[in-house]
Amino acid sequence: RKPYLRKPKWLYTTIEGGEKYGFVEKTLEENGLHTICSSGKCPNKGHCWKSGTATFMILGDRCTRACRFCATQTGHPLPPDPHEPLKIARSVKAMELRHCVITSVDRDDLPDKGAAHWAETIRRIREFCPDMIIEVLIPDYRGEELETVLEAGPDIVAHNLETVERLTPSVRHRATYRNSMGTLREIAERGFITKTGIMVGLGETQEEVKALLQEVYDVGCRMITIGQYLQPSDKQLDVVEYVHPDIFLEYKRTAVRIGYDNAESAPLVRSSYMAEQSFISMLVR
Ligand code: SF4
Ligand code: SF4
Repeated sequence: RKPYLRKPKWLYTTIEGGEKYGFVEKTLEENGLHTICSSGKCPNKGHCWKSGTATFMILGDRCTRACRFCATQTGHPLPPDPHEPLKIARSVKAMELRHCVITSVDRDDLPDKGAAHWAETIRRIREFCPDMIIEVLIPDYRGEELETVLEAGPDIVAHNLETVERLTPSVRHRATYRNSMGTLREIAERGFITKTGIMVGLGETQEEVKALLQEVYDVGCRMITIGQYLQPSDKQLDVVEYVHPDIFLEYKRTAVRIGYDNAESAPLVRSSYMAEQSFISMLVR
């Protein structure tokens, strides 16, 4: 029997509830929208929804991939809802967001993998809220698919590497470290603010994380998030280690030394956690 890892106190989070929380929940429900906050069982849901923000997940709630860390349902998805872009635009406006974060499931079943739906979502948000900072966390698109999304004009384009190269085959499904690095390179080469995120506590070494930080910087990515992997349910990978906050701080220092414009590194950091504050702190640097 594997030893039980007790969750340290730095991972305790705020409970759900409150007026703004209720408003976010209602807006999402009325529009039939999905979030990675709920699908991914994010530990920050109480905090984020109470502050009136959420990360929308487009293209349905069923993913064609089955990454071993992720709690999103997997299986054959339904056709995309053609009204979803409009519903998202209406919701971000109703929630009075200034910075929105959109992500999606992977749609390997669609000829364009969902890129046109992504572009339409960005355009609709722009139409409804011209000043919105639009942050997109996209699948491992390359070439034409990536171009379709970029042409719609998002402000920040993120794609998560999730883990170090050695562990990628056992953590992600179908995605490769090299292809994802290629996605980041292409985004940066097109002049977009480029962001990535990884989880730690999956068995990686500190040297591997530091090497990744350098490599990601070298392809032109200037924003990174590093957070603790938490097992959403016993169907997903076990946590190998609860990384101490001092080590997160050490990763942040390394990233700053390398030259990142913004590096968020702490146990509860997620790609979309405090995304607006990260962007602002990058601007005022
Ligand atoms: Fe949602 Fe991101 Fe906040 Fe988690 S960190 S609750 S995914 S907005
Ligand atoms: Fe989850 Fe992987 Fe699908 Fe993303 S691609 S939603 S991480 S299963």
